[in-house]
Amino acid sequence: MDGPAGSGKSTVARMLAKRLGFKYLDTGAMYRALTWKALQDGVDLKDANALCQLMDQTIIRFGGRNDDLQIFVDGVNVTEKIRLPSVTNNVHYISNTPSVRQRMVKLQRTFASEGNIIAEGRDMGTVVFPHAEKKFFLDAEIEERARRRYGEMNLPDSDVSYADVIKDIEIRDKRDTTRKNSPLMKSDDAIYLNTTKMSVEEVVSRICEELESAVKKQDF
Ligand code: C5P
Repeated sequence: MDGPAGSGKSTVARMLAKRLGFKYLDTGAMYRALTWKALQDGVDLKDANALCQLMDQTIIRFGGRNDDLQIFVDGVNVTEKIRLPSVTNNVHYISNTPSVRQRMVKLQRTFASEGNIIAEGRDMGTVVFPHAEKKFFLDAEIEERARRRYGEMNLPDSDVSYADVIKDIEIRDKRDTTRKNSPLMKSDDAIYLNTTKMSVEEVVSRICEELESAVKKQDF
């Protein structure tokens, strides 16, 4: 499952994994985790060799499942830390470094080799799992995506405005779609879902219908 920030893919993927009894893989969390580590260690984010070396020395591991998915970096639980603005604003250095991406892809495939999985990110259908049994690309209008993000932030005392969130999403969209390495793109064989006017439940049901119909047609 691929899509831009705020398209609902994390919530949907989690719910779907729970419903189907599959594992859930949040690949964005992996890029965020390495970003956190780089910031923590004061690694120069513009130095591709240093980032690659850091990736080789760092152990990224998941624990828990679905709603309770936790991510660990060298044994430290960074599940909440990786959502900090400092990480969000710097993750593009990591995600646009080809040698780091190569290693991430390898790790993601290893995680997926353990069994049935719902994986979400930006390049699942195009690069990491080109032979996935079913692919979905979730999208929504930017105003709606910003509304969702703003709602999730739930920070009554924060001075972050809705306009700030839109701006932030615009910047991330541009970086993710125009970068040289594995840009966010719909794979030709992915089913496109515009979730702007859909609830999470509706999206999950729609995907389940697609999966059931594929099973009936043996379209795997
Ligand atoms: O999904 P999330 O917003 O947590 O992802 C954070 C960032 O990680 C994205 O903006 C993108 O730059 C990067 N990413 C990526 N490839 C993936 C997943 C995430 O480049 N498969």
